Amino acid sequence: MRGAEVASRAESSTGSGHPRPCENARPAAPPRTVAGERRLSNLPFELELESARMVAPTVRELAFRRVDGAAMPYLAGQFLTLHLPHEGKDLRRSYSIATVPGADGPLALAASHVEGGRATGILFGMAPGARVKATGPFGRFVLRDDPPCRYLLIATGTGVTPYRAMLPELAARIAAGRCEAELLLGVRTRAELLYAAEFTALAGREPRFRFHPCLSREAELGAGEHRGHVQVALAALAPDPARDIAYLCGNPAMVDAAFAVLTAAGFPSANVRREKYVSSN
Ligand SMILES: Cc1cc2nc3c(=O)[nH]c(=O)nc-3n(C[C@H](O)[C@H](O)[C@H](O)COP(=O)(O)OP(=O)(O)OC[C@H]3O[C@@H](n4cnc5c(N)ncnc54)[C@H](O)[C@@H]3O)c2cc1C
Repeated sequence: MRGAEVASRAESSTGSGHPRPCENARPAAPPRTVAGERRLSNLPFELELESARMVAPTVRELAFRRVDGAAMPYLAGQFLTLHLPHEGKDLRRSYSIATVPGADGPLALAASHVEGGRATGILFGMAPGARVKATGPFGRFVLRDDPPCRYLLIATGTGVTPYRAMLPELAARIAAGRCEAELLLGVRTRAELLYAAEFTALAGREPRFRFHPCLSREAELGAGEHRGHVQVALAALAPDPARDIAYLCGNPAMVDAAFAVLTAAGFPSANVRREKYVSSN
């Protein structure tokens, strides 16, 4: 892993696969198993594509199983790095895990179509049965043991996959009165709102979870939809540094813009957790 991807991860990830303890509290000692788990995360394993489907017009969800049958514990919000052979090189690309930890069945990643993208070409052409090398799980873009708060979960495009993996944990925390959450998803058109049915379903049964689709190129808006970019809808939620904790994931320009808005509003940077989707080599 190198270049921009390393820089990106430095903001939100250790690469150890361990969440940082709540940054509002006194930093805890690192878990004693960190070194061992980092070594495990860095050991490549093979995945086999079990199935694939389009979950939005330009997003392909790929469901993989480990070829060796071993379990792969991870935390909601973490990502895997795929090692894709490309012109004699090892192209490394990271993808957030879209499935809920502990769920039966394969592990899904959602890849957005990037025009001319090297990994995109491989992932969109991959047929069931194909095998790929991977490492991980990595990342600290996970729910932490936070004090009661309102989570502002902000994403563009496939940046929403970590929140999809977090949904049961969020629902449990909300039910226990530990938090409420606003999920803002920015896309161009309604058809690109991936996993929206799941977010809408939770919002329908839990008023303390609210889903805000933000559509930048849709002529007509439906109930609960916002026009424009996520930053606009974010401002309308009156972010409050005293009670809110923000998660930003996806397009690097959006992550930077929202981070600037929040820190200018008085958020300590530790309460604005970021995952930028950038390529490395
Ligand atoms: C921690 C992490 C998690 C990630 N999770 C996901 C995920 O869950 N789903 C997902 O789809 N991607 C995710 N990404 C991005 C992903 O790793 C690749 O960068 C992306 O798939 C493009 O790779 P590529 O090889 O197809 O494009 P490249 O060949 O690297 O780039 C081709 C061209 O497209 C530009 N470009 C690169 N990426 C993008 C982009 N995202 N949008 C627009 N233009 C781009 C490049 O600047 C270049 O000009 C994540 C990245 C990181 C660092």
